Amino acid sequence: MPLLKIVNCMDPVLRKKCLKVKNIDETLINLTDNMIETMYNASGLGLAANQVGVSSDFFVIDVGIEKEKRDPVIIINPVISASEEKVIAEEGCLSIPELFANVKRSQRVEVKGYDLKGNELRYEAEGFLARAFQHEMDHLNGVLFWDNISKVKRDMLQRKFKKKLKELEV
Ligand SMILES: [Zn+2]
Repeated sequence: MPLLKIVNCMDPVLRKKCLKVKNIDETLINLTDNMIETMYNASGLGLAANQVGVSSDFFVIDVGIEKEKRDPVIIINPVISASEEKVIAEEGCLSIPELFANVKRSQRVEVKGYDLKGNELRYEAEGFLARAFQHEMDHLNGVLFWDNISKVKRDMLQRKFKKKLKELEV
C-alpha cells in the first residue's frame, strides 16, 4: 500500500472545515487503508483526512494505546457527544513535526460516528485517547493544536516551525 504525503500546517487544506461524507465507496475504503499505513509509518496515533490533503469528514485513530498492539479504527462524520473535566498535557501533531505544547483538553469524551459499513459507532475515551480524539476532531474543523494555546506561545512555535522549514529548503 502506498504511503501518503502528510501536509504540514502551512497548507490551507488544514484550515478548512471538512465536508461530511455522503458515500462510503471503494475510493474512501482504499484511502483509509493507506492512511492507517501512513499513520503508523509516521509513528502517529491519529490522522485526519485533511492531513493527507482530502477535505472529508473522517479520521483514523489507534484506540489500542495501552495494549501495545495495533488497533486502528476509522470514524466517519464524527461528533463529540459528551465531555468532562479539563486537563492540561503535552501534545504534538504530524503536521507540525517535532514541536510540542501543553494544551487544555477534556479528560473524558464520548465520540459518535460511523464505521466503513455505515454502522453507528460510539466510543468512550479517557486521558491520552480522549485527547487524541479531540485533536483529530479539531483537524476536521480546520483547527490546529496551537490555536488552543496562548498567542505568545503560538507565535514562538510558529517561528520555530518556519525556521525549520527554511533549513529544509536550503
Ligand atoms: Zn494533528
